[in-house]
Amino acid sequence: MSQSICGARRPGYELRAPVGRMSIPCALGAGHECAHANAFGDRWTNISAHISDAQRGDASAIVAVLDAMEPLISLYAGGDELRRARARTALSEALPAYAAGDFTTFARHVVEGALADDAHGWAEEYGALSLRWEGLRARLRTDDTLHIREQLRRVDALMAALVGDVAALSR
Ligand SMILES: [Zn+2]
Repeated sequence: MSQSICGARRPGYELRAPVGRMSIPCALGAGHECAHANAFGDRWTNISAHISDAQRGDASAIVAVLDAMEPLISLYAGGDELRRARARTALSEALPAYAAGDFTTFARHVVEGALADDAHGWAEEYGALSLRWEGLRARLRTDDTLHIREQLRRVDALMAALVGDVAALSR
């Protein structure tokens, strides 16, 4: 890569094969202060102009940084609003910890870490539900009431939803 070219990729596309115009890197001179722009004339936020303000707690700079990271957040959180919110919160809380280097790499580690904790939380939830289910089944052996059967059905539906069968909740 020529040293005179910025070469920045849009966050979330920087690791992808350079296919499609979203992946085409910035063609401006290295160290430019304005927004990035590729050869197609597409422009996107130059995060370096906002980072230090965001680190000082400037709200509009924080929003600009988070908005610029949206493609990265989408890459990890998909369309799940809770996961997206968790990624954005983790990223804004981690901003003061950023010191130097490629900000997108920093942001990727933060988002990965935040969503890995999320997966850990789900595993704990599933474990707790499993215990509850076993307890209800044990009670059912000695105390077969409609009430316990109803609870078991509910726990069954929640467990199915945890592994992706959300429709089970309405059965
Ligand atoms: Zn650039």
